[in-house]
Amino acid sequence: MPRILMVEDDAQITELLETYLGRYGLEVMSVDRPSVALDKLRVEQYDLALLDLGLPEMDGLELCKLLKKQYPQMPVIISTARHDVSDKVVAFEIGADDYIAKPYDPRELVARIQMILKRYSQLSSPEEASVFAVDPVKMQITQEGQVLDLTQAEYEIFALLLQKRHQVVSREFIAGSVDAMRWESSDRSIDVIVSRIRHKIGDDPKDPRYIRSVRGVGYKYIGA
Ligand code: CA
Repeated sequence: MPRILMVEDDAQITELLETYLGRYGLEVMSVDRPSVALDKLRVEQYDLALLDLGLPEMDGLELCKLLKKQYPQMPVIISTARHDVSDKVVAFEIGADDYIAKPYDPRELVARIQMILKRYSQLSSPEEASVFAVDPVKMQITQEGQVLDLTQAEYEIFALLLQKRHQVVSREFIAGSVDAMRWESSDRSIDVIVSRIRHKIGDDPKDPRYIRSVRGVGYKYIGA
């Protein structure tokens, strides 16, 4: 189920869209402030972000710019009540994938979301298909379709490495972001859990296909 991160400070719109998009098989997580959206993105993955333009803390355009820099693979739609054409131009200039003026017909929004999701899914070619898939709702990770038998700490650490694929993730970052590690943050226990994950996914630490150790820092997911 595609997951949409909606940043909208109007509770009425939020409620309406959550229900409406839900009917079309789109799961909506709504937050009313950019800082909360950024917090969410640090721990979860979303397929698309829908941003209001007038927001507290920072403008939707500023937030879009930030998201495009940090999460270039996530499409962004900007929606706004302002009828200012210059906003629209700026939105596209800073990389927004679409722009929709309020009030709009929710059916139009659904159609645009579906179109963008389709376009992005075509961008990732079949040979780049992931070996592992994370289901954050069930807290499960599958390896080529098979559900892995992971403890909560193993799940959380592996999901984090997969989310930050091809980036080095430090032990400090793992200790700070993974709930199961907050009260037990010794580097050693992180290493023990990673070695258990490796064992379960059949990865050889000496010649890794998936998880590489980065000496003195942490780990990096190197697979597809
Ligand atoms: Ca607003």
